[in-house]
Amino acid sequence: MTAGASDSFYATTAVPHAPRPRLVQDVDTGVCIVGGGFAGLWTARALARRGYEVAIVEAGTIAGEASGRNGGFVSAGFAERLPRIVERVGIEQAKRLYAMSRRGMEIVSDTLAEGIPGVDPVPGRLNVQRFDDLDGVRRQAEFLAEHFGHEMLVWPTERVRETLKTERYYQALHDADAFSVHPLNLALALAAEIEQRGGRIFERTRAIGADLEGVRKRIVTESGRVRASEVVFCGSSFIGKEFPQLDRTILPVSTYVCTTAPIPEQLREAIRYGGAIADTRRAGDYYRITGDRLLWGGRISTRTSVPRGLKKKLGRDIARVYPSLKGVEIEHAWAGTMGYTIHRMPQIGLLKPGAWVASGFGGHGLNTAAMAGELISTAIVDHDERWRNFVPFGLVWAGGGIGRRLTQAVYWGMQLGDKYDESKSRFKEWRARRAAAAEAARKVAEEKRAVEAAEQKKVEDAARRKREQEELKKLLAQEEEEERRRKEEGAKDADSANKKPKKNKKAAAEAGEEDE
Ligand SMILES: Cc1cc2nc3c(=O)[nH]c(=O)nc-3n(C[C@H](O)[C@H](O)[C@H](O)COP(=O)(O)OP(=O)(O)OC[C@H]3O[C@@H](n4cnc5c(N)ncnc54)[C@H](O)[C@@H]3O)c2cc1C
Repeated sequence: MTAGASDSFYATTAVPHAPRPRLVQDVDTGVCIVGGGFAGLWTARALARRGYEVAIVEAGTIAGEASGRNGGFVSAGFAERLPRIVERVGIEQAKRLYAMSRRGMEIVSDTLAEGIPGVDPVPGRLNVQRFDDLDGVRRQAEFLAEHFGHEMLVWPTERVRETLKTERYYQALHDADAFSVHPLNLALALAAEIEQRGGRIFERTRAIGADLEGVRKRIVTESGRVRASEVVFCGSSFIGKEFPQLDRTILPVSTYVCTTAPIPEQLREAIRYGGAIADTRRAGDYYRITGDRLLWGGRISTRTSVPRGLKKKLGRDIARVYPSLKGVEIEHAWAGTMGYTIHRMPQIGLLKPGAWVASGFGGHGLNTAAMAGELISTAIVDHDERWRNFVPFGLVWAGGGIGRRLTQAVYWGMQLGDKYDESKSRFKEWRARRAAAAEAARKVAEEKRAVEAAEQKKVEDAARRKREQEELKKLLAQEEEEERRRKEEGAKDADSANKKPKKNKKAAAEAGEEDE
């Protein structure tokens, strides 16, 4: 058993409520319900609203286990994934089951509409992917809309990353119908209504045996007995060895939640979405902002004890997704135990005439427990047979200690699978980024080469021009030199001509010489 609800943030923000008495005598009632979590409370309330006399025996306190310690997400569906349900029972049966799970949500929202203090419902849920698969997300949205009439909006990676400041996420599916609540205050309101309608609730009263054979059944506790025409077992993970038929079909699986100190500015920066957020890994993170705090859940284990250093571990999980929230103070951290069946679907139905079971909701009980309460109460009151839709998911042995170890191994395998998908996407993204960087570097190098070539050409042109000028200069100098020489020679010739003895004109004429 976990430590009771007192260690959780929900316990510190619970509406005022008085403890209920322990059963200390034998009592008679119409329906005895074993377990005061959501399954027991919704069943008891539905019966009380139909005028039935009810009594709940609760081993600890109302919603002291999973029901008062969870993420508070109310959304359609079951712990088992929808495609697996279709595989198992076919599309038509899966449609009926899904519609019932949505009916469970409707019961919760109708109840909230009546006005319940301290539940503070917040609309919306974002299912974020930690690996890149736009087509897959689109296919999922189409599958839900086409076969189950549930419209969800595909958010591309850019929109997700504008809203949630992390590079861990890719696409998301937005579910506008989902909402989140303060689960403990919701449970306390249900308990209060049951009592107002004449129902009795006994806390710290563990059922340790039952006689289910006669017309009047008997539930035996350590301090008194309850006689009733009908009994409903809603004990989930902690029903106890005294009820082996139930105990051996449930695997207790722990998950962990924490809340930070108020960090309004940091949250405004990092998480710009007010609804519930969950990643789609098999054992992923789930979180939401509540007031000025972050409520963060994640991790699973088949060990039911609270791990050492839980606050630190969850703080590190937060920082891995949102580096800007590294080192934020974790005020509360707690564990909760979910009851899983082998088929990951709830057990809803008859054990034997007059003895019912509503259990095994796994990590998806906020809608399905309300749905179970309606199915069982209408079966008892009106002989409604809708519960038979759950016959394919009967009491299947969960394997005892070996089952737990196997489950742990399966979860580790699933986590490895998640890590592989995620690393693949991150590797693809890294490769794309590296290719883009290489392309940019190639362009820069090309531009640099072009600039260098232009500069080189300029230098060569200048050198060529200089060479040409020098050659020109040389030519001019040579020509000048030649000219000078010509002039000198001309002058010399003139000189020597002057120096020859001059003939008189007459003599020259006689010699046949003429002036030019
Ligand atoms: C940390 C955490 C986060 C979760 N988050 C979500 C979420 O966000 N959304 C969602 O839909 N679901 C969530 N779940 C699952 C959800 O809380 C459960 O599926 C749901 O509360 C189950 O209700 P329950 O009544 O079957 O079981 P429980 O809440 O476990 O109640 C069973 C009660 O029976 C009592 N009991 C057992 N045996 C006996 C006995 N022999 N005699 C008398 N009393 C007995 C126990 O003390 C207990 O109080 C979460 C669960 C956990 C632990």
